[in-house]
Amino acid sequence: MISTIGGGPAGSFYASKVKDEDVTIFEEHKEIGNPVACTGILTDAVKQFVRIPKELVISKIKKFKLIAPNGQSIYIDNKKTNYILDRAGFDRYVSQLAVDNGTKVNLGERFIGYKKIKNGMYQVKTSKKTYDTSMIVGADGPKSSVAKAAGIYGERRFVMGYQARCRYPDLEEGVTVVHLDCGEFSWIVPEDNNIARVGVIGVNGKKLREDYKRLLGNSKIIEDQSGLIPLYNPRQKLKAPREEVYLLGDAATHVKATTYGGIIYGMIAGNYLADDKSRFIKNVNKKLSKDLWISLKMRDMMNSMTDKQADEMIDIFQKKSNNKILSESDRNFPSKFVVQLLMKEAKLWKLGFGIFKNKMTGDMFSK
Ligand SMILES: Cc1cc2nc3c(=O)[nH]c(=O)nc-3n(C[C@H](O)[C@H](O)[C@H](O)COP(=O)(O)OP(=O)(O)OC[C@H]3O[C@@H](n4cnc5c(N)ncnc54)[C@H](O)[C@@H]3O)c2cc1C
Repeated sequence: MISTIGGGPAGSFYASKVKDEDVTIFEEHKEIGNPVACTGILTDAVKQFVRIPKELVISKIKKFKLIAPNGQSIYIDNKKTNYILDRAGFDRYVSQLAVDNGTKVNLGERFIGYKKIKNGMYQVKTSKKTYDTSMIVGADGPKSSVAKAAGIYGERRFVMGYQARCRYPDLEEGVTVVHLDCGEFSWIVPEDNNIARVGVIGVNGKKLREDYKRLLGNSKIIEDQSGLIPLYNPRQKLKAPREEVYLLGDAATHVKATTYGGIIYGMIAGNYLADDKSRFIKNVNKKLSKDLWISLKMRDMMNSMTDKQADEMIDIFQKKSNNKILSESDRNFPSKFVVQLLMKEAKLWKLGFGIFKNKMTGDMFSK
């Protein structure tokens, strides 16, 4: 039996793909999907992995409106749909896929620890019982207890995502608004004409809370959906040495640091682990690490931008050829479009070098 800890999208999607082995998911909450701490925005790339039932799509995003610190704004059309999902419903849907694949889901049962027993087996201790198991998958979110128990927690850093579902004035349907002078990343994502998911991410503190207050304005909060997000750690171990203990999703810090989305990465890595665990680390390193790393460096770059540089960036993105590249790209995979942009736009290089200055050398794309 494989013990998967955590019934979020990473753990459930992994379990839905495992062949010829019994999987039990242990989820500490009494139901899958709640409480929600997520905007539920996914790019079209999700369709490569899972069909999205219509009833889970709350709205579709056709444009992003970026607002510079000086108030100037630009629109970027999404050539491919971005979906705003019922996140709790999505988690339940992926969990059902796992159940359909024969997975047992134990709700209200918290992982406490594990120990090695005989014949390459492990004993998992939960809040209810102990279980003999051949493999443990930690898909238990940012503060992974599995990573801690396996001694591979590493030096994690976190950012805070403040988000609320609220009644918000003057929404443009199908348009996500991003204020560049708000936290590390902020968003106003409309569900319809009246209701939006409004949030801001950054290092937790007074300034972030003030930005959040400013973003919320006079809106009326319906539900608080705030949560912690791990910062991608390129040195994070994905497997405990000499043990059959693996990490997936937020537990593995697989979140892109540009816009702090992690659902797709958790699912992609889950697919690799289910497909061939002996190639799991190799596949993740080959297919995901570069984009996660570039996102991290882009985040460093954006965090050190002055307001003037952010204004300049908006000017650059407004140019038709650059805007087109952004419209056609998938932000989950920046390796595909950052180079394209830099090849086309010398000003961006200059802006980039100005920002990297002593911090980084020109090795951004050698990895
Ligand atoms: C405000 C906010 C907005 C976000 N918006 C987006 C977005 O729009 N798009 C996007 O892609 N990502 C977004 N994210 C990130 C996204 O939510 C995560 O990357 C994603 O949920 C990771 O999935 P996961 O399955 O790895 O972990 P989780 O979804 O965190 O699931 C982990 C599960 O493990 C369970 N668990 C934890 N510890 C134990 C234990 N000891 N025993 C048993 N069970 C346990 C938890 O209850 C939970 O159900 C957002 C995050 C925040 C905070």
